[in-house]
Amino acid sequence: MNQVIEGVYQVSKGVNAFIVDGDDGVVLVDTGLPKRHGAIVDSLRSIGRSVDDVRAIILTHGHTDHFGGAAALIRATGAPLVASEIDAAVVEGRRPMPAPPILDFPVVRLLVNLLPNPEVVSVDHRITAGSVPIAPDFEVIATPGHTAGHIALLLNRQGGVLFAGDAAMATRRGGVQRGLMNRKSVIFDTSLRAMADRDFAIACFGHSDPITTNASGAFRAFVASI
Ligand SMILES: [Zn+2]
Repeated sequence: MNQVIEGVYQVSKGVNAFIVDGDDGVVLVDTGLPKRHGAIVDSLRSIGRSVDDVRAIILTHGHTDHFGGAAALIRATGAPLVASEIDAAVVEGRRPMPAPPILDFPVVRLLVNLLPNPEVVSVDHRITAGSVPIAPDFEVIATPGHTAGHIALLLNRQGGVLFAGDAAMATRRGGVQRGLMNRKSVIFDTSLRAMADRDFAIACFGHSDPITTNASGAFRAFVASI
């Protein structure tokens, strides 16, 4: 586990999930792969929190590596689950999981097929825009492309903390690039611009290290280049 800033922790087990600690409890953003939720529970313990402190679990999108731990974490915490209206159908098993945007490469197809199937789980709050009803310090930014219902979340704290999910990721030099397996297209680029239009100091991603200074500037530089 890495501390991104005070109260925001990144739990990395092949993919990143986040613990957001606050005065009124803990919010989890994404839940990691199936059967890896123990890393999140251990991380809660290491910051002096427990499963009982979790007040909401919010998903950025309906891919196995982001909602795979949701069912087990809900059993452990009793917390309500929040997902976008569109991807909730996937999380609940009513629609098949959308393939990652790029499946043209046989090796990618093979790797995706090796991922364990997630346990489906019911979603308590479906969101499309505005603030998250049970965690109003989080604002939803619709960022379709990686999945149809992909959302980013903007936490109103310390100059703004963006959770971009798989809609973008950082380069090794702290710049912004397209999210894992995302391609250039109008819908992806519109979502990148929707994030770049906002002000935030820090950005956290599903598949890279965070950007911890002037993150919205890094988004703006990237969208100006595409
Ligand atoms: Zn994904």
